[in-house]
Amino acid sequence: MLIDSHCHVDFPELAEREDEVLAAMSANGVGRAICVGVSLEDFPRLIAMVDCHRDVYWASVGVHPAHTDCAEPDEARLIELAATPGVVAIGETGLDYHWHKDAPEWQRERFRTHIRAAKACGKPLIVHSRAAAADTLRILREEDAAACGGVMHCFSESREVAEQALALGFYISFSGVVTFKNARELKEVAAWAPLDRILVETDSPYLAPTPHRGQTNQPAWVKHVAEEIAFLRGVPFAVVEQATTENFFRLFTEAGHD
Ligand SMILES: [Zn+2]
Ligand SMILES: [Zn+2]
Repeated sequence: MLIDSHCHVDFPELAEREDEVLAAMSANGVGRAICVGVSLEDFPRLIAMVDCHRDVYWASVGVHPAHTDCAEPDEARLIELAATPGVVAIGETGLDYHWHKDAPEWQRERFRTHIRAAKACGKPLIVHSRAAAADTLRILREEDAAACGGVMHCFSESREVAEQALALGFYISFSGVVTFKNARELKEVAAWAPLDRILVETDSPYLAPTPHRGQTNQPAWVKHVAEEIAFLRGVPFAVVEQATTENFFRLFTEAGHD
């Protein structure tokens, strides 16, 4: 069984094809996915969907670092929502200086709030970092995020950044980006990263992997990500499948960590 550690199946383009998306997962041996929260406003919609398919979907709660014009979460609110059955993580959270090139202070504050909530409720973090690796790692260290652990989702940084994330006890999750021809440096990271610390994801509906580039991505296509990693490492597909699934269940559990 494969697992999509990060998707957004509650987004309209996938939610309106819910049955088809689930059937494709089943046909491709993808047995579970985390439907990742991006705002408090969308959380009721997300949890309603997850509740109908708890055998396949888990949820996370958080406010995406690039989102503006949305309710600002405080620690108490995140902790309260994280107690909802089916919620296994806090996020996605982090820093995104690609969409906010002025690197605003509110992003770092929002990120710190999520880390504190994750530590308080004993759930791992799902971290989004774009064009902000140094600040992301610095804040993870300053807030002692090693205490709750988590994953660097859609990892697309250098080996040096990966080494620092691993040193904090974090996992590295690869998306369809690793299948792109021009992702030379990332392919090297995927070939090198410790087998017991990697996850796979789609970030669907975005970032469809080769050979589906440009289409609406879906959790079933996490298979192409795992196939590429197996190819890059020169190991059978089953090795990557088993390792990433074991890693996933070591990091995420419905009961939370102690
Ligand atoms: Zn993200
Ligand atoms: Zn995402």
